[in-house]
Order: sequence, then structure tokens, then C-alpha cells
Amino acid sequence: MRQKKYFIPTLREVPSEAEIVSHQLLLRAGFIRQLAAGIYTYLPLGYRSLRKIEAIVREEMDKSGAQEIHCSFLQPIELWEQTGRAGAYGPELVRLHDRHEREFVLGPTHEEVFTTVVRNDIKSYRKLPLILYQIQTKFRDERRPRFGLMRGREFVMKDAYSFDLDWEGLDRSYRAMYDAYSRIFTRLGLNFRAVEADAGAIGGEGGTHEFMVLADVGEDTIASCTQCDYAANIEMASAGRKRKEYKEVSVAEREKFHTPDIKTIDQLSSTLGVEPSSFIKTLIYLADGKPVAVLVRGDHEVNEVKVKNVLGATEVSLADEATIRQVTGAPVGFAGPVGLSIPLLVDLEVAEMETAICGANEVDMHVRNVKPGRDFPLEQVADVRNVIVGDQCPHCDGHLEFHRGIEVGHIFKLGTKYSEALGATYLDQNGKEQVMIMGCYGIGVSRLLAAIVEQSHDDKGIIWPLAVAPFQVHIVPVNMNDQNQVQLAEQLYDRLVEAGVEVLLDDRDERPGVKFKDADLIGLPIRITIGKQAAEGLVEFKERKTEQVEVLSLEAVYERVL
Ligand code: ATP
Ligand code: MG
Ligand code: MG
Ligand code: MG
Repeated sequence: MRQKKYFIPTLREVPSEAEIVSHQLLLRAGFIRQLAAGIYTYLPLGYRSLRKIEAIVREEMDKSGAQEIHCSFLQPIELWEQTGRAGAYGPELVRLHDRHEREFVLGPTHEEVFTTVVRNDIKSYRKLPLILYQIQTKFRDERRPRFGLMRGREFVMKDAYSFDLDWEGLDRSYRAMYDAYSRIFTRLGLNFRAVEADAGAIGGEGGTHEFMVLADVGEDTIASCTQCDYAANIEMASAGRKRKEYKEVSVAEREKFHTPDIKTIDQLSSTLGVEPSSFIKTLIYLADGKPVAVLVRGDHEVNEVKVKNVLGATEVSLADEATIRQVTGAPVGFAGPVGLSIPLLVDLEVAEMETAICGANEVDMHVRNVKPGRDFPLEQVADVRNVIVGDQCPHCDGHLEFHRGIEVGHIFKLGTKYSEALGATYLDQNGKEQVMIMGCYGIGVSRLLAAIVEQSHDDKGIIWPLAVAPFQVHIVPVNMNDQNQVQLAEQLYDRLVEAGVEVLLDDRDERPGVKFKDADLIGLPIRITIGKQAAEGLVEFKERKTEQVEVLSLEAVYERVL
């Protein structure tokens, strides 16, 4: 591809609306443009990379035995009424009417549709198991779309659904998907973890795993053991808590806990009238935007509530506010399960804690999966970083480490929730009707584009892994008025293209500085610069990820690239 006519509108300035690196770089390098909040256009480079991600996903899904279909994103509301999700899904569900006043939704996910497809045409055990998937646009009217492709309202998802005869079959399908996901994220060059998760709104009776790309900008927190292979998302890691440990406290009652005087576990427990064990696993909020994870745990032996900066592992007494500020670099608020909101320290208004806790959750649940600013409006509390669970591994003597993660994939054992509601049954060997056992499996295809950039960039721009780079090689003749350079560039270009290499040729009549800046920003894996040494048939060969430049002949380049 020749760059002169190719649509790559790069930007020098960092767009003010872009808060995180991947969003900034994808805009600056001319990969995407925003049309409306959470709605994006993929420009040529962005669309090439997106399609490469899709291709890898598709290859591995096909290899796993799953079959690709393509459903409409428009879904009749009746399906959602039958499964009880029309109401339960909440305001993320986009509803609309056709000219006959029939109601539809823009699919945020496709359990109902796939279950219907299979229900209508599969009747016998002989046709099962079956895994179907699609790569499709999804719509979710996210409360706060942000971070570019990371949290869009319209986004591309690969969603798969498995239909099995029994739970053992589901285990096998689930395993096949788990393995396919591991291969996909490995091929994409990502540093990721599969973590145990809880089922949340989608329901279902079986297990679920989230695939998390490790990155500081991730909106999720994951806990992993330093000794064994236990890894879970923070909600799951904290889910061990029993309901009976919660104590309901009225808002008025709560006022009396709004005191900075409590310094020890004993004081706290006698003020609250609860056993110390019920608030050991508590939540802590950072009240300014700093990305500092804080872990709090009660220490019975020394009768002290401790805070620990997870990153630095420094422990201080929670009662000592000045030290906490020093360690975390932030003012700290402190809250327990619903009904036990205890803003111990300044900077957090009780009212705001209330919103944080009640606004984002069902009754009788503690704060789970709360996303700052997205799930509740908090002006002062710019960031809620961790649901704190203590750092004891539930499987061994080891301790938990905490990381931020981007959820790029999610697999669920659904069981019979959808097949029962929609009547997806089959006749078994004895002619007896049985309900299909289902699983569902999602990958955030467009979110992956952002996650890859988040993990692979430097201060000059993106560093594309070869597998998803829009082009593999960037040829940059420094001076388009130098015939030697132009000729050598053309020769190289023709030969590589002929051999099937994807090449971008910077044939623009721009200053070298501009060309190099753009090349670094766009971040193709290999750059071949053609300068003065063109007269001797020599070029400069450089990989984007290193600083090292080698002077090579064309033959040597071919050997390297082809
Ligand atoms: P999140 O917790 O980030 O809101 P989710 O748990 O609601 O995601 P799922 O229903 O599990 O999402 O959907 C499957 C995958 O789709 C997610 O793992 C994620 O990679 C992707 N995804 C979900 N919501 C969005 C979005 N708004 N923009 C881009 N990708 C998304
Ligand atoms: Mg969501
Ligand atoms: Mg999630
Ligand atoms: Mg999920």
C-alpha cells in the first residue's frame, strides 16, 4: 500500500478526550475515530488490525470444532421476556420499535437467539453436542462509555454457545473453549490470566472464568496466589463471605460510625456490635485519582486494623491517617458490607459512600464490580480501586497478589437457564425428552485491539505484534527527490508484495522527521529506511521493538523477511 493516497490521518497532539494510552495512540496513529460517545469508526489501519484479530479468533474457534453462523443483531423483545431478561438486563439494553410498533432490542448478547436457533432445528441426541459461534456487533448502552474501544456502546464480540446432552458434555465443551481462548490470547502476544469469576447477571449454575489482560488501566482487579495456581477476580475472591456476617444498620445509626476516633479492631467491633471477623474483609476506597491498590486486613493478634500498599507492601496502622496518606499517596475512605459503611477518614462524605454502596448493587450485597464514575457519580471519590478480601489464599498457605486486569474474554457454564425457558430439548436414546445443557463464551474482539496497544507501546507510539499489525513492513525512503532512494524503495516494495508480505510504502514528499515520527506512531513491526546509502544498494533495517539499526543489502533484507 502506498501511503500518499492511503487514509492515515495521524495527529501530533494528544486528543484531550483520551484518558488512557491505547485510546490516545489509536486516535493519534489514525486507526479509529469517534462518531458519538462509545461509537467508533475503524479507519483503514484499524480495520486491518481488527480483521486480523477476528481471523485468529475464527481460526482457533474452528479448530476447536465450533461452527460459525451469523445472527441478526436485532432481536424480538419476546425472547427476552421469555427468559426474564427484558427487565433484568437493565438500561444497557437498547430497545426500539419497528413501524408496526413491534418491540426489538439491539443484541447486547445472543443467548436467547442461539438457543432459539438450536431449539427449532435440533431434536435428537444424535445431533449433539454442538458449539455455534458468531463474530458480531453488540450494543450495550453503557452508563459511561470510555477509554475508546475498551468500553464502547457498540463493539465487536465473538460469542459462542454450546449445547450438550449432559453436564459431563458441558465440561468438555467448556474445556475446549478454555483451551481455544488460551491459544487465542497467546497468539495475540498478550500477557493474560484466566481467573475464576462469579456468574453475575447472566446467571447459570456452573463455573465461569474471565480472561484478563494484565494492565494498570484495567477496570477489574484480580487476585492470584504466589504459591499455587489459584487466580480469581476480586468479586470471586471476596465471595466467600456469608450473608449472616452482614449487619443491617440504618443511615441514622451509621452516622455514629462516622468518626475518626476508632483505632483498633476492638473499638470498631464494640461500636458496631459485631464480631471482628465480619469486617476483616472490608473495602477501601481511595479518594483521589491515584492508581494505588490498597489492601486492608484486620490483625486480631495485635488488635489493629492494617492497611497495606499492595504495590509496595508497606504496612501501616489504619488509624494513622497521616501514614496512610504517605503510603498510598491518597486520602482513604473505609467501608464494610452494605449497612456497615464506615467512612473513618475525611474526604469521603457519608452520602457519597451511600451512593457507592447502594447505588451500584442489589439489596443485601456488598460492593462488587463497582466501576468508579461509571456505576455511580462520584465527584470527590475519583477512584475506587479494590474490593478488599484479605491476602490469604483459599487453597494453600500462600498469599494473594493483586493486579489490575482488562476483561477480554469470559466463559460460563450456563446449565439449563436458557434451554428451559425457551424449550430447547432433545429426545435421548430412550426417546425421553431432556433439556439441553448450555455454556456461553464471549471474547471482546474490539476491546482486544485496545488491550494489545495497552500492553505494547512506548513513548513514541504503538509496537504491533506481528500477528495483528496492519502491515508487517514499513518502507520509508527519506527523500522522494533522490532517484536512487525511490528506485530502491520501489524495487524492495515490489519484491516483498509479490512474496505476499504486507507492506506500507511511505511515498509521501514529507520531511524525514515527519516520516519517522509517523512510522514510530503507527508502529509496524519492521521498518526499512532508505537513505543516502541507497546509492550503494544499502538500506537500514530496524525492528520497531528495538533501537538497533542494521545496514543491509536488499538480498539480506529478503533473507530476513521472506
Ligand atoms: P465488563 O465487565 O467489562 O462490563 P462484561 O462482563 O459485561 O464486561 P460480557 O457480558 O462477559 O462482558 O461480554 C463478553 C466480552 O465482551 C467481555 O469479556 C469483554 O471483553 C467484551 N465487552 C463487554 N462489554 C464491552 C464494551 N462495552 N465494550 C467493548 N467490549 C466489551
Ligand atoms: Mg458489562
Ligand atoms: Mg465483567
Ligand atoms: Mg463478563
